[in-house]
Amino acid sequence: MSLHGKPIVAGAIFQSSGSTFKAFSPINTHPLEPLFENASAACIHTALTSASEAFRSYRKISNEQRASFLDAIAEEILSLGDTLLERANLETGLPLDRLTGERGRTVGQLRLFASVIREGSWADARIDSPLPARQPLPRPDLRSILVPIGPVVVFGASNFPLAFSVAGGDTASALAAGCPVIVKGHPAHPGTCELVATAITKAAQQLGIHPGVFSMVHGNTPEVGMALVSHPLCRAVGFTGSLKAGRALFDAAHQRPEPIPVFAEMSSLNPIFLLPDALRTKAAQIAEGLKNSITIGVGQFCTKPGIVFAQDGPDLQTFLTHLSHSIGSTVPGTMLHSGIRDAFEAASKQLSKIPRVQLLARAPHSPDTSKTQAIPLVLVTDSQTFERESALHEEVFGPITLIVKSASHEELLQLANGLSGQLTATVHANEPDMEHARDLFSVLEQKAGRLLLNGFPTGVEVSHAMHHGGPYPSTTHSRFTSVGAAAIQRWVRPVCFQNFTPDFLPAELRDANPTGLMRIFDGQLTRNAI
Ligand code: NAP
Repeated sequence: MSLHGKPIVAGAIFQSSGSTFKAFSPINTHPLEPLFENASAACIHTALTSASEAFRSYRKISNEQRASFLDAIAEEILSLGDTLLERANLETGLPLDRLTGERGRTVGQLRLFASVIREGSWADARIDSPLPARQPLPRPDLRSILVPIGPVVVFGASNFPLAFSVAGGDTASALAAGCPVIVKGHPAHPGTCELVATAITKAAQQLGIHPGVFSMVHGNTPEVGMALVSHPLCRAVGFTGSLKAGRALFDAAHQRPEPIPVFAEMSSLNPIFLLPDALRTKAAQIAEGLKNSITIGVGQFCTKPGIVFAQDGPDLQTFLTHLSHSIGSTVPGTMLHSGIRDAFEAASKQLSKIPRVQLLARAPHSPDTSKTQAIPLVLVTDSQTFERESALHEEVFGPITLIVKSASHEELLQLANGLSGQLTATVHANEPDMEHARDLFSVLEQKAGRLLLNGFPTGVEVSHAMHHGGPYPSTTHSRFTSVGAAAIQRWVRPVCFQNFTPDFLPAELRDANPTGLMRIFDGQLTRNAI
């Protein structure tokens, strides 16, 4: 399938007059064909206007029709076959087996959301029966349900070219909720974006869904993203990427005459605490697990553990020796694009130069810059230095972690208290450590969206109970997740219908409960008709 490089707006190729750019393969830094066109102002306006028109019908189609749409997108993505995987490999340098797994995750996400909306209880239908005789005032008939918010702009992430990109979790959850989507493709993998956008467009055509339900535009300048977020018809934004970009978009959205929510997932250190007995008995095992978690995907995961806290002493020294050996067995890896690699190199150098920060270990081979490579490394410091140096509190995207030695358990608690918001926080503890683990978790619960006992944070399950979010700066809204079934909650708002007659009510709120939905009736969960 040949690529055209143009935006796909409401089911058609848009002849944009925007400037052009090329993608570069990180594998060999060669430019890739074709030229891609940045979205012009007219293109962005057409995409948002079409989405707004589509919203009128799309929000009203049945859950079953929307679920079929998501299933059809999954099928269309699979039918792209190796073409999709090979282009994604060229554009990102990610190996084909990883991309095959990621495609499975993407398709699985779409099907998960199809099942969520078929089941229906996500819509949180509530009915309070009227109390006409109540004194001093009667209670009216009150019924509420979640309704879609409107056109959503999604920014594809660079580090998951399929699962957090054009048909990733943000798009799947927004379409499931009943919201049209306009994706700003990530400029590091525009060909992959075009292929997936074509699959979504075909699925909409097959099912006769209004074409404005989906558009995908390219952009390699901040202006494109800003124009999308500032457009008056945009109702919400989903973003995964850097704190700098996420914060800029969040600020822009809040400066609009009519502010809108930006659900940005940005930066996290994902701290790990190693408690004494666990360190004493499992030093080699934890060191190997940590090395794997730092280096998987060349450290380009939002859940990569960037910091490890432990009490100083002989057991920590043994652990550091194991970790040095493990890191010594690693090899350079190709990063997603030269910007990310350069940022990683610059930040690693900056941290290494801080007084009292020492290099513990690095992979033995030099990285090949013509292959956009980076090598894993581990730094060590003490708690005073960590507390003093703000640069040590910032995410470094890539295969690096910092070990912070503390003098006591009280100091570990103090360090935990000083952390900013995180996606995850982990404690390694044995039975004798449990009291201290409980102290730590009671602090960490205030800091992170996912707590792990004796594990590693990389690997985020796409499921019903998953929470992938956390207090700022890990995200802009700590109450919401960007992974898993609950991600749909970002794109809806509640509406309460007071004293409505059955004809005016949405089907889900009628007495007969024709869709068999689980509802809260007078405070009790039930599927019964009333
Ligand atoms: P990024 O720079 O945050 O860019 C993400 C998206 O936002 C791109 O579409 C980008 O397009 C757009 N953008 C960037 N700055 C913008 C601005 N000021 N206004 C409007 N739109 C803007 O992420 P990246 O390119 O993937 O990687 C850069 C760094 O982001 C990494 O080194 C890493 O630190 C971080 N990152 C974090 C995660 C995570 O999960 N926590 C994931 C990926 C990346 P344009 O560049 O064309 O403007």
